[in-house]
This record gives sequence, C-alpha cells and structure tokens, in this order.
Amino acid sequence: MSDIHDQAPRRITILGATGSIGCNTLDVMAHLGGRGAFEVPAITGMGNIDLLARQARTAGAGFAVTADPDRYQDLKQALSGSGIEVGAGPSALVEAGERETDLVMAGIVGIAGLAPTLAAVSRGADIALANKECLVSAGDLFATAMTKGGGRLLPVDSEHNAIFQVLEQAQRHAVERIILTASGGPFRDYSREQMAAVTPEVAAAHPNWSMGLKISIDSASMFNKALEMIEARHLFGMKPEQIEVIIHPQSIVHSMVGYCDGSVLAQLGAPDMRHAIGYAISHPHRAPLPVERLDFAKLAKLEFHAPDETRFPALALARTAMQRGGLQGAVLNGAKEAALEAFIAGTIGFLQMADIVAATMDRLDDGRRASMIEDVYAADREARAIAKAIMERPA
Ligand code: NAD
Ligand code: MG
Repeated sequence: MSDIHDQAPRRITILGATGSIGCNTLDVMAHLGGRGAFEVPAITGMGNIDLLARQARTAGAGFAVTADPDRYQDLKQALSGSGIEVGAGPSALVEAGERETDLVMAGIVGIAGLAPTLAAVSRGADIALANKECLVSAGDLFATAMTKGGGRLLPVDSEHNAIFQVLEQAQRHAVERIILTASGGPFRDYSREQMAAVTPEVAAAHPNWSMGLKISIDSASMFNKALEMIEARHLFGMKPEQIEVIIHPQSIVHSMVGYCDGSVLAQLGAPDMRHAIGYAISHPHRAPLPVERLDFAKLAKLEFHAPDETRFPALALARTAMQRGGLQGAVLNGAKEAALEAFIAGTIGFLQMADIVAATMDRLDDGRRASMIEDVYAADREARAIAKAIMERPA
C-alpha cells in the first residue's frame, strides 16, 4: 500500500485554525512534511488576526478568513503582499468551507461551526470533525448531508476517534455498547458544596488535557461528556442505553467498544489531541506522530469508577435529550452555551448551569423536529433566550 508521502500534496482546509484544535492540526501537518506534503486552500479564525495571518503565510494558504466582519481591513493589512485572498464574516466562512479541498478540519467552537462545515459536507469533502455541536444540535440533518455529499466523516474528539479506531466495521451488528471514558475534570472529588463556589479560572484548569476555554469548563461540569454521548449516538448509530460513561482519571484509555461476545476493545495513548488529529487527517494510513509513547512499566495504575450523577447532572440531561429526540440536542446545547457564558461572566454559579439547561429543555419539550438547518438555528436561539430569561428571573 502506498505511503501518504508518495502522494500529491493533500489539500486540507482548517476551520478554526487559531484555536486549540487548529494549532494542533497545523503542528501535526508541520511534522508530517509541512508545505511539501500539504496545501491549505482555506484557513479561518476570528479575533486573533496576527496569529491567523502568521498561520496563513506559513502554510501558504489560498484564502484566509476572519469570522469577525469588522476585522477585514486588519487581516488584509496583515497579509498585504502575500497574495493570499482575504475574507471576513459569516458568508466568507461558508465560502472557506466550500473551497475545493480533500479534507476539512472542522475546528470552530460552537454552533458557528455548523454552516461552514455543512458547506464543506455538501461539496463532498472528507470531514475531520472536532466541532461536536454539529452533531449534538443537527445530528440527523448532518448525517443526511454527509450521505448526500459522499465524503468520509472522521471523528476528532478523542473518545470518538478511539471508538472509530476499534469499531470493526464488518461487525457493527455485534456491538453491544460503547464506553466513553471521562477524566472527571478538576472537580472529580469535590462535594456539591465545594462545586457551588468554584470560579471560571479554577473550572478551566483541566488536569490532563490542554484545550480551549469553553470545552475545558464543559469538562469540569461534564457537559462535555453529555455532548459526547449525543455525538456518539449520531456517529455510531447507538441507542441511548448502549452509551456508557466511565470515569478514568488518567485519560490513557480514550474509549472502548464492547461486543456481543464480551470482548472489549480499547484505544490507548497519551492525552494529546495530536493523536486523534493525526489519525483523522492521515486515515486510512497511520502516520508517525510526535506524541509521547506510553511506557507501561511507568504507568502506575489505570483506575475506573462510575460517575456520580447527582454531582454531575449533565449526563442524565444528555440521556433525556437522546430519548426525547428531535431538537432537544440543539436546545441542550443552546441553553448550555447561554449558561456557560453567564458562568464565565460571573453572573451565575457553577451548579446553576445544569439547572438552567434542565428547565430550558422542559420548556421546549414539544416534540419539534428539524427539517432544515434554519430549524436548528431557531431552536438554538430560542433555547438561549429562554435560558437567559430564566437567569434574569428574580430568585
Ligand atoms: P478554541 O476556543 O481554542 O478555538 C475555537 C476556534 O474557533 C478559533 O479559531 C476561533 O477563532 C474560532 N471561533 C470562535 N468563535 C467563532 C465564531 N463565532 N465564528 C467563527 N469562528 C469562531 O476551541 P477548541 O478547544 O479548539 O475547540 C474547537 C471545537 O473542537 C469545539 O467544538 C470543541 O468542543 C471541539 N473539541 C476540542 C478539543 C480540544 O482538545 N480542544 C477536543 C475535542 C473536541
Ligand atoms: Mg472529548
């Protein structure tokens, strides 16, 4: 079989290049041959213009886009003389997704990633999917668009990437359950009283993984795992009861698949997102990655224990959203985003986030389904508005 280096440069567009996933993607690409091995038709960011411009120049990008329409001139100036085309705002983001390419790294955070990723899906590009909101909020529509577009969907979230690696495609019918591992975050051993008083700074300090701000706080509340449960349902066609979560503080086992013969297959590695990113962009090959190798003699122990759902109600909310179906995933995510922003701004406490999401989901539990993408945006907007109204209500 040919090696990736024997082939013509692979074209990779990076949506959200300036974030944690985007920077790790560019790092992996640099290790795998840089400009000799890859072309970058398009690259996007938002406020960090200097970094975006530097990335675009280093990668020799064709098109650089800032999501912020007011920063067009700044980016244009930062890239003057480079010959790199410049764009700004939502329509330019979609255009970045539409540019001819082999693979798109979907690394924008939040629902803002949906439109440009769907544009890439419709063009038939392979999608390395980090943005979990695409599946959580619009899973059914996204799956339909993928089938229609004809590209491959390669999960980048480390848990889903692990499952993708050990899921025997010919034996899908024999899969009994998938087991998502969770580090438990910085508050794994906190009481509810202690959790009630934590600040955003403490919540953002993840013990094992280095990630963006929102996902780090979502890991502390386990909303990240809640989103991942819904993501897994859509990616692997599981029933809600087939998706288990287990706390694994060391983050070495990235997730597991249990088969009907009792066998459990796991993927292990150091907690470094470059594993999943490198696997996704090299698939179906395995590329040599600059990640730490596991030394089993030095791994003192691997622990596993059941999550405490009274301290982490997000997990039960994910199960409710899956059982209710329809737009409840979009509602859970929209309400969570509004609550998370309020927590970051210091207007609500850590534990209130789950209460607000639960109340919003109940208010919008009307069996609505999405027949087009606008339905998803409408549910997202409505969930945010209701969550905000709940937060503004006098106690
Ligand atoms: P981040 O905050 O570090 O980066 C987000 C990127 O999106 C940046 O390039 C930013 O400029 C861009 N962006 C932010 N708001 C935008 C908007 N409104 N419109 C367009 N672009 C916008 O986030 P991250 O940690 O890299 O996460 C990206 C996605 O990947 C998230 O959905 C996250 O859940 C998922 N993910 C991340 C990790 C990780 O290790 N960081 C792991 C698994 C999954
Ligand atoms: Mg993950």
